Amino acid sequence: MLSERARALKPSPTLAITAKEKALKAQGLDIAGFGAGEPDFDTPAHIKEAAIKAINDNFTRYTPASGIDSLKDAIIEKFKRDNNLSFKREEVIISCGGKHALFNLFEAIFQKGDEVLIPVPFWVSYPPMVELTGANPVLVETYEEEDYQVTGNMLKKYINRNTKGIILNYPSNPAGSIFYRENLEAIGKLAVEHNLYIISDEIYEKLTYDDYRHVSIASLDSAFKERTIICHGVSKTYAMTGWRIGFAAGPADVVKAMGNIQSQSTSNPTSISQMAALAALNGPQDSIGVMVKEFQKRRDFLVAGLRSISGVTCYNPKGTFYVFPNFNCVLGKRYKDKAISSSTVWTEVLLEDFHTAVVPGIEFGKEGYIRLSFATSMEVIQKGLERIKKAVGKLK
Ligand code: PMP
Ligand code: GLU
Repeated sequence: MLSERARALKPSPTLAITAKEKALKAQGLDIAGFGAGEPDFDTPAHIKEAAIKAINDNFTRYTPASGIDSLKDAIIEKFKRDNNLSFKREEVIISCGGKHALFNLFEAIFQKGDEVLIPVPFWVSYPPMVELTGANPVLVETYEEEDYQVTGNMLKKYINRNTKGIILNYPSNPAGSIFYRENLEAIGKLAVEHNLYIISDEIYEKLTYDDYRHVSIASLDSAFKERTIICHGVSKTYAMTGWRIGFAAGPADVVKAMGNIQSQSTSNPTSISQMAALAALNGPQDSIGVMVKEFQKRRDFLVAGLRSISGVTCYNPKGTFYVFPNFNCVLGKRYKDKAISSSTVWTEVLLEDFHTAVVPGIEFGKEGYIRLSFATSMEVIQKGLERIKKAVGKLK
């Protein structure tokens, strides 16, 4: 019989929907796909060349389990350059994707009985990853009308002796929201007062729009930095989702524990991918600007299109490549003989009857919403919008 842990775990819904979307496309169906949370751009040529060189140079053996020093140095340089943060090598670890860095981190700091604060809407994998450690996720509701802000006052009522940490993700998946500086200050102060870890998932740092520039909570106060672990990676910034390189930076004792977990499980992240990530961080950065400009154009078009649907509201994301429109207006209606009782049923209708793949909001903790990734072409966005409008029009 499978373990209780395994029985309680379901697959990542974002990956599951992306897989379904690909399978339907392979059957020849014309699916407008908004599921995938990955850039549709190619990995820049100089990064690919660095990987090919690594293979030809026979850089194909085990590396130190926590990653190679040259890549740690490039990560240290990145934090200095972008966030004015100083780290030492022993405060940095390279993992098999940002997801793996988060997983190892939670294993290292959480255990049975601990409570972990998670603002809603959240990225799908945080609650299951917390639960795998035996700790309990404590969900803190945030609201579209309030810019999805988390304030100190909102958090205070959830903090007790068992509270061990808070997970911050900004720009956020799925809303694309950010945190105001004054709220980051207040959260940091609470974390110091109650001895909490701050997990700051900054993987979308570079994908921001308009005038927004990312600020890391760790850079606001050295007392915040002492308890913050920044989780990051190259997947989104450099269109490198398949290469599986993530990294984390934080207190040396936590990073060491993460390294021990890694050395007993996966060993090092792929040697070749580490060389590619090194080229990504140290090489020209202009591909990011090109990608962001295109994403911003698509965001503007998609948000305007969704807002033009009667009854729908849509938060304008400040970062990431997701929009998270509010489709509560369709709940309680019917499509043919099907009652639209939840965001899950609504996404099933959109996929099965209107060939449009999106992720139900409930997977991110918000019923009535859906998530669309605009890491797809304008043509698909246009087609998908038309289909969604048509679907809403057919509801009774
Ligand atoms: N954090 C967030 C918020 C994400 O959306 C993702 C995307 N999968 C990750 C972490 C991890 O990405 P990866 O494992 O590809 O580095
Ligand atoms: N982060 C992306 C998403 O949310 C990729 C899929 C995943 O890892 O969950 O769609």
